Amino acid sequence: LQKNREANGTSKATFSFEFFVPKTSQGVQNLYDRMDRMYQTHPQFIDITWNAGGRLSQLSTELVSTSQSVLGLETCMHLTCTNMPRQLIDDALQKAYESGCQNILALRGDAPITSSEWKPCEGGFTYAKDLVRYIREKYGDHFDIGVAGYPEGHPEEEASPKLVQYLKEKVDAGADFIITQMFYDADNFIEWCRQVRAAGIEVPIIPGIMPITTYAAFLRRSSWCQINVPEAFMAKLDPVKDDDQAVREVGTELVAQMCQKLLDSGYVTHLHMYTMNLEKACIMVLDRLGLLSEDEDIFRDEVVPMPWRKSL
Ligand code: FAD
Repeated sequence: LQKNREANGTSKATFSFEFFVPKTSQGVQNLYDRMDRMYQTHPQFIDITWNAGGRLSQLSTELVSTSQSVLGLETCMHLTCTNMPRQLIDDALQKAYESGCQNILALRGDAPITSSEWKPCEGGFTYAKDLVRYIREKYGDHFDIGVAGYPEGHPEEEASPKLVQYLKEKVDAGADFIITQMFYDADNFIEWCRQVRAAGIEVPIIPGIMPITTYAAFLRRSSWCQINVPEAFMAKLDPVKDDDQAVREVGTELVAQMCQKLLDSGYVTHLHMYTMNLEKACIMVLDRLGLLSEDEDIFRDEVVPMPWRKSL
């Protein structure tokens, strides 16, 4: 991989970390400690997820504010627009604005676990594109806005051409970048990128990368997101499935090879790591790719442009 990286000039690839909001105050403290440690690896940004329906919304906005204005991390706030009063959306955007946060991942959100079908709440938004448009109308160009992409379809819509069209509508509404659902099928992702570009979508595509921590978690997450697991993954992971350390090592190799293939495809220059609030497996993948700096202080004071920000 190291050789490949040098040969293909992909050493400039950047990366980011996604964290979710813990449920307890001890969990929040642990997360701050982890964010602080992971900051040492120089992620280009971090993002904080939003709980469906705005649960823990105050904690989410506090985390965004602390990470952006106290820890000094470029932060992206996820925001869903379903099953939530408009006031909650307005408050979240205002708090993000006041903290200096400039990045929002605008999402529709899922149905609450108690309901099988998604329904818009009265007077609320129907699709993520409505939220994108709303943020643009209210805040002009202050926020860079990201939207979700689904290389292997969405549980409510599997047909790829339609999904690419819906993605285009979100970008046309004002989105600046796309972050994708997790996947392990690099070939499918590269073909999807080709379709996205062919549809006239030109904004940066950021692949969502889920490192492999344990065999059970790997199977559970793949099944939850309804994604294809390539045979090569099963063939290498199945024989070591009862040995967590071996799963992590083999998984690191598989995920790093996949990432290298994505970078070599020329469609992506940035990897977005789904940390699940754990650092080890992410760091192993980035290290395997040779993306971790050996110099602790390098770039510390330098402005590294966001993958989608044209103005810098
Ligand atoms: P949309 O793009 O609005 O699409 C929703 C559905 O409507 C899709 O099935 C789509 O095919 C369909 N659709 C879109 N436009 C049209 C149209 N014009 N006509 C007909 N049908 C249409 N969820 C959370 O609760 N919190 C998070 O923090 C969070 N973060 C995420 C991060 C990423 C990178 C991704 C990929 C997903 C995330 N999700 C999160 C999950 C997301 O909320 C769900 O996948 C949700 O079901 C769809 O959200 P969306 O923004 O893609 O919606």
